[in-house]
Amino acid sequence: MPLNIVWRDNADPAIYEAARTSRLFNAQKPTQYPLAIAFVKDTSEVIDVIHLAIQMGCRISVRAGGHSYASWSVRDEAILIDMGELSEDASLDEDTGIVSVPPSITGKDLIEYLDTKGRVCSVGHCPDVGLGGFLLGGGMGWNCNNWGWACEQVVAIDLVTADGRFMRADTQQQSDLFWAARGAGPAFPGVVTRLYLKTKPAIQSMFSSGYVYPIRSYSTILQWTTTVSTSNDSIEVLAIGSYSADLKEPCVTVSVLAYGDNDDDARDVLQRIDASHPDGSLLQWKCEKTNMQQQLEKSGQSFPNNHRYYVDNLWLDDDMDLSLLGRAFNSLPTKKSLLLCQSMFPCSQRNLPNMALSVQSNRWLAMYAIWEEEADDSRCQATVHEVMAELQQHSKGSYLGELDFRARRGHYWGDDQYERLVSVRRKWDPLNRICGCVGLEM
Ligand SMILES: Cc1cc2nc3c(=O)[nH]c(=O)nc-3n(C[C@H](O)[C@H](O)[C@H](O)COP(=O)(O)OP(=O)(O)OC[C@H]3O[C@@H](n4cnc5c(N)ncnc54)[C@H](O)[C@@H]3O)c2cc1C
Repeated sequence: MPLNIVWRDNADPAIYEAARTSRLFNAQKPTQYPLAIAFVKDTSEVIDVIHLAIQMGCRISVRAGGHSYASWSVRDEAILIDMGELSEDASLDEDTGIVSVPPSITGKDLIEYLDTKGRVCSVGHCPDVGLGGFLLGGGMGWNCNNWGWACEQVVAIDLVTADGRFMRADTQQQSDLFWAARGAGPAFPGVVTRLYLKTKPAIQSMFSSGYVYPIRSYSTILQWTTTVSTSNDSIEVLAIGSYSADLKEPCVTVSVLAYGDNDDDARDVLQRIDASHPDGSLLQWKCEKTNMQQQLEKSGQSFPNNHRYYVDNLWLDDDMDLSLLGRAFNSLPTKKSLLLCQSMFPCSQRNLPNMALSVQSNRWLAMYAIWEEEADDSRCQATVHEVMAELQQHSKGSYLGELDFRARRGHYWGDDQYERLVSVRRKWDPLNRICGCVGLEM
């Protein structure tokens, strides 16, 4: 079968544009124009495309799930390898509990597949995020603060190198590539064709409580979330600044999810938390039984498709004065925008495994500007930029999965990890064939 490639210079412009922007989550489309888009069906086609790029002397970019806000896959003059048509599905080895997945699989599809087998693994909060970009970036998945970074569940990857060789990387072979595959994000110097992940037994019991407060209470509420998350096990705590649909005013909502082995334990935790919640809530829900599919669906509603997005994030210093977050909570640029404040305790307190991902703290803050009209582009971007630039001095760095490297220089890896990543890239991709991080030359 010939390769399915759409060439910029001889395709019908509408077909080229559809291929260029296919499956991009952000409705604010990039202004970069690849030489071609190759829709690969299997690993041998990935190898063919890389050889073609070598012959033509051009670069390679990759699209797995298309969820990068900054559309990292779309690069001028590169051949874009789109993995959306990969033919092999997820497959669980029931003896080892290892699931192998194509990079383009979404979190929702993987959770549904594993659920049929009585298993679960870490996926992104938004249902359509692709496992490829998510895991390469580190992966702040559901219950990340307890289960650890999603990339910690990766036990091996298959990849094609920048010079077109197929290989496996794990702790025993090409271990430097395996190290990089857990946190390098777009700086990974190869094309991953398959990922092998540890799974866990399905969650037996999941309950949800939530408390909605006026936004002016943000500082008290955040202090409470610190107490709650450091004194209870098996919970995930997220404070969200948003315009509440029910109240028509900006609010701060605390969402607490309890993950347990049985209903009584999970309920007990939430009842203890309920007894300590600050007065003044405008709305609340308590101890509602839920499951991962429902939570993915709910989360998907907060991140609507066909909208324009601009995002930035910070790992806040552990001793930061929380009252300094006033501007962030009071600057939501539109009614659909969100400010997320996620507790990473206790994951933030333990030594991370030896992997590229290396920056975290007790509290992660992200501002998601979400809007529909092009006329609002500059205003929304400027708001996020100004808020984050002001808070940067109170942070240890940023999570690379949810930002645009062109917007602001940050600290995405520890100093040693950055140096190692640069040398892994030079070893495996000396000609800089794989596009890497747009706006961050390494
Ligand atoms: C609404 C929304 C919610 C999100 N929620 C979360 C969340 O809860 N937790 C979290 O950690 N992140 C989250 N993210 C961020 C997300 O994880 C990153 O944007 C990630 O890069 C998306 O992966 P993707 O494969 O869908 O994206 P793509 O745009 O397809 O990939 C991004 C880049 O990753 C690299 N890449 C991807 N696949 C491969 C491959 N097979 N080989 C080599 N390089 C590859 C390429 O450089 C590619 O351009 C969210 C993003 C959105 C839009």
